[in-house]
Parts: sequence; C-alpha cells; structure tokens
Amino acid sequence: MSLKYKLSIITLTIVIVAFTGCTRNKNGETSYKSGTYTTEADGYGGVIKVETTLTGEKIEKIKILENSETEGIGSIAIEKIPSEIVEFQSLGVDAVSGATKTSAAIIEAVSKAVEEAGGDVQALKKAPVEKVKGEAVIKETDVVVIGGGGAGLAAAVSAADNGAKVILVEKTAALGGNTVRAGGPYNAVDPERQKNVEPADETSMQKVLSLTNVEPKNERHAQLIEELKEDLKTYENGSKDYLFDSLALHKLQTYDGGDYIGKLDFIEVLVDESLTTSEWMAENGVQWTDEISTVPGGLWPRAHLPVNAAGYDYIKASENTARELGVEILLNTKATELIIENGTVVGIKGESDGQNMEIRAKVVIIATGGFAANIEMRKEYDPSLTENLPTTNSPAIVGDGIIMAQNVGANLIGMEYIQSLPLGNPKDGTLNGWIGGAGVEYYYQVNKEGKRFMAEDGRRDTMTAALLAQTDAMSYVISSTNNDVDINESGINIWGDNVDKLIQDGIVFRADTIEGLAEQIGIDPQVLKETHDTFNNYVKTGKDNDFGRTLFGEQIDKAPFYASPRVPTVHHTMGGIEIDLENHVLDANGKRIPGLLAAGEVTGGIHGSNRLGGNALVDIHVFGKKAGEEAARIVKD
Ligand code: ADP
Repeated sequence: MSLKYKLSIITLTIVIVAFTGCTRNKNGETSYKSGTYTTEADGYGGVIKVETTLTGEKIEKIKILENSETEGIGSIAIEKIPSEIVEFQSLGVDAVSGATKTSAAIIEAVSKAVEEAGGDVQALKKAPVEKVKGEAVIKETDVVVIGGGGAGLAAAVSAADNGAKVILVEKTAALGGNTVRAGGPYNAVDPERQKNVEPADETSMQKVLSLTNVEPKNERHAQLIEELKEDLKTYENGSKDYLFDSLALHKLQTYDGGDYIGKLDFIEVLVDESLTTSEWMAENGVQWTDEISTVPGGLWPRAHLPVNAAGYDYIKASENTARELGVEILLNTKATELIIENGTVVGIKGESDGQNMEIRAKVVIIATGGFAANIEMRKEYDPSLTENLPTTNSPAIVGDGIIMAQNVGANLIGMEYIQSLPLGNPKDGTLNGWIGGAGVEYYYQVNKEGKRFMAEDGRRDTMTAALLAQTDAMSYVISSTNNDVDINESGINIWGDNVDKLIQDGIVFRADTIEGLAEQIGIDPQVLKETHDTFNNYVKTGKDNDFGRTLFGEQIDKAPFYASPRVPTVHHTMGGIEIDLENHVLDANGKRIPGLLAAGEVTGGIHGSNRLGGNALVDIHVFGKKAGEEAARIVKD
C-alpha cells in the first residue's frame, strides 16, 4: 500500500477551512461554517475528490479535484452534477442516466462537506430542483438525425460534409449511447497491418478451408467460395510468413456466423467499405493502434482498436467533427413520433428539456440503437431473456426508434435474434471491469470448479450457452501481464477502469502465482494449476485437445495473474427496422417510406442470427456514413 494511499484513508476528510465562525441566515438559523472543504467518495472508477466552497447560506462552488470515471459516461456526471447542486442549492438533483454511481458519489462527497460545515444534509436532499422550462423547440432543417451514438454521429457528419444542414437530437444528457460503452474493436481486412501478424496455425486454416466446403445458399455465396479458394491459392504461393486474411473470408465468416440468415448484399457492403470507412474515421480524428487482434466472437484477428478509451474515442472524434461542420446538437431532446404527411415523413415531434419539440426536415434518419435494455420488449421476442439477465446496454437503449418507425408502417426484421455475451460484469452486467479485454489471445475462461468449458474463440451464442450451463452461470477470465494493450502505463485497462481500484473493490483478483489466485477465488489450487498448465501447453502446440480453440497469442505466464468474474449479459439486438442498401426504411411490401432513413443497431437483417464481435462498430459507421450521404443527396435533389 502506498504512503499516499494510506494517508488518504487516514485523512478521508481533509478540511481546509478559513473559518469565519458560525453564520446565521435571515431566520436566525445556523447556516454553514464558511470555508473550502475537501472530501471524498467512491465513484465507479475510483475515489472522487471534491472541493466544496461554502459561504454562510450558500454552496458557492464545487470543484472535482480528482476522479477516474469513464470518459463519456461518468465524466458527464462530473460535469453536470456539481453545477446543478450549485444552481439549485440542493442535494436532491437527478442522477445522470447511465452514470448513477458517479452521480451518487459526487452528492455523497458534497454531503460530507455540508455536514462538516454544520449544514443540514437531509433538508438539502429535499430542497426542490425546479428547472425553469426553456422555449419550445420549433425548427426547420434539411436533415434531422435521431440518436447521438456512433451511427447517428456518423450520419450527421457525412450529411453535413456533403452540404446538408443537420440537427441531431439526443434524448440523454450526453452523446455516446452504447457506442461509448463498447470496447472499441473494429473489424477490417487490412493488408498492411496483417503483414506484422504471425501466420495462423494449421487448425485455424482448416476452419477457413471448411467454409469452402459448405453447400452454397445462393449464386453469390458460390462465387464468394470461389473467391476464397483463389485467395488461399495466392497466399499458399507466396511467402506465407504473415497472417492470411481476405474480403471473401470476412464475408463468409460473417454470413456463416449468422447462420446464413443475414442479408449477403449488406454483409458485402459492410466488409468492402470497412477499411475505407476506418480511414474516413481517421480523417475525422480517430487514432488507431498499429495492432490487430481477435475480439471475443470475432473469429479472426482483424479487430482494430482506437488508441485511448475504447468507444469514447469514436464519439469524441465524431462530435468534434460534427460541431466543426456546423451540426446543431440538441441534448436532453427526445423524439417521440415521426410526422408523416401524405405518406412522406417530414419531421419529428417530441420534447426538449420538458418543452415541446417539433423539427421539420426533408429527411429524418433514425439512429436510436437497439432495445436490449427494454426487458419487456426483449422478452416479447425472446422469452428466455428475463429480468434475471443484466445487460451491457445504456438504460436509454429501449427501442424508441423501432416503435416510432413501426407506427409509420416500417417493416421489422429478425427481431428474435438477440445476442448475449459470456463476459458481463456480475455487479452491473457491463463490459467494464476485467483484464483480458484487448483480445481473445490474452485469456482463457474457467468455471467455478476451475475448469475450462468452451473454446474462448467461438461464436458468442455458443459461448454464452456454454456459460449458462455452468454452476451459477458463473466464470472467471484468467489472464496475466503479457500484453501492454490491456493495461496502460497509468494502470488503466482498455475500458478506462483503474486496475488497482478494481482489485481493491474485489471486482478483479490479482496474485503472483496461479495457486494464489485460485485461493482468492475459492477454487482448488491444484485444479486451476492443472487447467493453467494444460492451456499453456495448448498455446505452445497451437492445438486445444479439449474444446478445439484455435486462436492463441503468447502463453499466459507472466505474473501477476488476474481472475475477472464474468456472467452472461444481454448485449446486442440483431433485429430491427428493415432498410435497403441506400438506408431507406422499407414497409411490409418492400417499398420505401419517403423521407425516412435508418442506420446502426436500430436496423435489422444484416448480421442474421448471431453477430460477429467487432462487426457492430463497422456496421454503425459504414451504414451511418452512407445514410448521411444519401440524406444529403436527397436534399440536393
Ligand atoms: P448505434 O450503435 O446504432 O449508434 P447507440 O446505442 O450507440 O446506437 O446510440 C443510440 C443513441 O440514440 C443513444 O445515445 C440513445 O440515447 C439515443 N436515443 C434513443 N432513443 C432516442 C429518442 N427517442 N430520441 C433521441 N435520442 C434517442
């Protein structure tokens, strides 16, 4: 334990006070002892240190001195809660949606300061928060985008870049949606990056080959099989000292991974435009690492990662570009209905900060994400996904756009296909809070008995089913310190979590030996050691005799070792609004609904029954960009 840390525990509350004595308010009641108080409380990512200035009757100023909250999620509460407490002189301000722990921690820290100063915390918690209603929002524009996640921002950027006047409405206090919560893997076949990756072993290549022995479902599928055979031939005739990959392979893995239910023409666009779209994103400010790895359920090492905090990098870059291009972004603005006149969508209605909102537009783009956080809706389409299962999703992802589109006659497709992951944080279902997230290559997973139970490089649906069959549907990801992608020099993992804090809070376990780790998580040390040694032997030989895993990195052998508890969690809804290849929303007869486009997780039919890990961020950016271009084209016409 560092001295700094010890000191911070001992002096949990440091009071720097320039006492002016006990002041009295108008009614003669005792008020705050004026001064500046430094207090702390536990946030989501670590200790939040707050400086509160109190003068007589007033909370004058609140400054956050230190925090490790997640960018784009907790950081919104860091910005918002202090100013609201000061504005309303109340500790009863609403928590920021999706950042409840951070919000509560700030309120707790300020409460401690109030208490130190002799104030009445309970009374302040009841003090009314009466927001002055602004003006009704009545506007007109070329393009209105509903939803400020990855797809909505990509659409807004490309529409504005192509000359359209754009308004984007986002119902929460912050941009980001599920995109900001994503680990960030973006699949793209990338001849440059794959040159630096070891060739795949023979078993992996056998899996590739097996895709060429499938009975073709249609003519284009047959052609793709031929293309893959050709690509393999070219590779075989070359130096073979780098990783094989090809567009045909990515397409066939996506098509096969979704049980041949996904629409092949959409899969082709997704794959063909993935690399160019990643370059477009780079022009807009996303910085990519030079490496590629395999995201769980991604099946092949072609996942690109942004350099900083996963999904936040995408949102920040797109937001900056959107603002530079003059996109008007309205936060706390919820669309509730599409305005349709003579069969054409001409705008949206809803509410903005408690006031009416109506925006008329030549084109409306729906980008409201999926519905995994809507328990009733997901149970309607898959009764097994009950309230017992947590979700990785933001609480805002409840299918609004699907319902609005349905109300104007949109066709829905593939609604029953809902994906769960075997990698949820048992505390809250999120993807945060584990070590190994940089890629399948960096971990293996055991059940409560200390035994592996699946190939960790398999399909997400198969892996989740395997986990559900284990004792208490509970598992531990076992990883070690042999990658620097997972934990950066500041001790932060790719999800933006402070690793020491994860250990301190008992979310992740750490030990210098595998046996020591086993003891901490209540597994027989001998059993875990045997599993561990057997696994590392499979890494050496490239052959998993138990479950047929084929994707390996280095051996998991550098202390300290980590165990991260993981449970099933509902993640992605593959179904949604049916669109055509130009992003137009279709009705039940396959006809376009004029004026209405959609992009991102709100759309259905692309991934089939199971989405490949790392393909969602491609989907939302490729089709988000295309939606914006199409909207701008319509406006020009
Ligand atoms: P995608 O990955 O498809 O971009 P995300 O989940 O990242 O989807 O983002 C969807 C965004 O849409 C979220 O920020 C969510 O808060 C927002 N949203 C959902 N429903 C509405 C609505 N009715 N009005 C405005 N914004 C909405």
